[in-house]
Amino acid sequence: MKKIFKKKSGYSRAFALSVFIFVTVLCVYGIYKNSNVKPANIDEYIKGTEVKNKGKEAGRMDSIIEYGDRITMAVHYPVFENPMVDMIIHDDIRQLIGEFKIELAKDSSTKGFLHCDYSAYLVDDTHVSATLLMEKSFSSYAHPDMIVRNYVFDTEANKRMVMADIIDPQKMSDFTNLVMNKITNLEGYTSVENINIVISEYFKSNPYSFYLSGDGVVIKFEKYSILPGYFGSPEILIPYSEAGNFFKSDFKFGNVISQAEAQQQENQLKNQQPPEEVPVKRVVDESKPMVALTFDDGPHPQNTRIILKALSQYKGAATFYMLGNRADSYGDVIEEIVAHGSEVENHSWSHTNYTKRTAGEIKSDKDKSQNAIKKYSGHTPITMRVPYGAINDTVKSSVGMPIVLWSVDTNDWKDKDSKTIIEWVTTNIKDGDIILMHDIWPETANSVLEIAKKLTDNGFQLVTVSEMAKARKIELKSGNKYFSFNKK
Ligand code: ZN
Repeated sequence: MKKIFKKKSGYSRAFALSVFIFVTVLCVYGIYKNSNVKPANIDEYIKGTEVKNKGKEAGRMDSIIEYGDRITMAVHYPVFENPMVDMIIHDDIRQLIGEFKIELAKDSSTKGFLHCDYSAYLVDDTHVSATLLMEKSFSSYAHPDMIVRNYVFDTEANKRMVMADIIDPQKMSDFTNLVMNKITNLEGYTSVENINIVISEYFKSNPYSFYLSGDGVVIKFEKYSILPGYFGSPEILIPYSEAGNFFKSDFKFGNVISQAEAQQQENQLKNQQPPEEVPVKRVVDESKPMVALTFDDGPHPQNTRIILKALSQYKGAATFYMLGNRADSYGDVIEEIVAHGSEVENHSWSHTNYTKRTAGEIKSDKDKSQNAIKKYSGHTPITMRVPYGAINDTVKSSVGMPIVLWSVDTNDWKDKDSKTIIEWVTTNIKDGDIILMHDIWPETANSVLEIAKKLTDNGFQLVTVSEMAKARKIELKSGNKYFSFNKK
């Protein structure tokens, strides 16, 4: 990535910079929604920037989540069920993860952190668009890298679009000026030399520097590419009412499906699925052995349902520590979990490592996830499983909920083998254990029927975390960690 922004020195510059930092922290520009936090170090603040929840209007979410001693990685990306679109996005994801892992392998003393979230749009009935923001850092880095990927697809022509496909070449310099005006009007903007040339060069070397949202053409720049790092990855929205003046005459754009219509279409699709089975009424016998199966990182449209069905056969329930950012994609699955009698709890918004976030960021991330889960479940989560089980004092004091971890780690995401998973979950299990699994993996889902059978045969009841805490008369306290509810 080219760093075009040049640093100047001097007193007035320093003053302008401090005003700029102040304004940047306060302003609602771009990606910083979290205005109740004003960390002293601006880089700490930028570090937490993520794609705003502007919506996941199109496609469904897929996630790749891995953790270990040296790696915390959560990558969310959209799947549109269109082979060309999905291949292009998936290739990028694979490449970015590959590069990250190669870099991690080079130095065995470093720890790697990778996080990616996205927004996706159904622009009209032929165009879909998405923007990904990936944050990559290593313990050896002073600051994280931010990587942007923008996509606009014409699904009718089966083509990924570049800027030259939508903007009339004769109007390109006027379009560049419009973008420049919007940048120079940003709060906190201090002059960048020859900014129009900088932007025009950027467009030439980055033909995919834009996406189409519900509101207009959005230019999304890489961090440092045109503005100082304080701006993160700047976004410039050009409403369709303005952008339309620059469109090529053959850029067919219209038939815009409103979000409501899109939702309706999606609901119709969902309604075609067979009705799920009715839950079995369960009674927890507090005097008998019990374990809590927990499933993280979902919900998932197939795997979660397979798990629920398997549990039902053995009158069992489980606790689903889910990601808030998946709720809008899979709200119907959340409803089914609740109807089943299982429990939905909070596993953060997008599986970011909380130990790398400020107190304010943790709080707002958690709240965002609470609200998303509540929206579909009607239940405000009462326990939190922090991503990667990563905890420090800031996490403990700011999460504001009891933190439920686990006593049995199945490593299901690593092994991806049902036999091995069954072995983990059915050997050396004790009364009161909390068992960690992940419902985004089919191998896990397919192991649950056998797990439920074996555990039940061995006299264990399959209960939720809160049922087990209640049975053991443990009062869950905010900021406390719980690994199991083993009998003393
Ligand atoms: Zn997780």
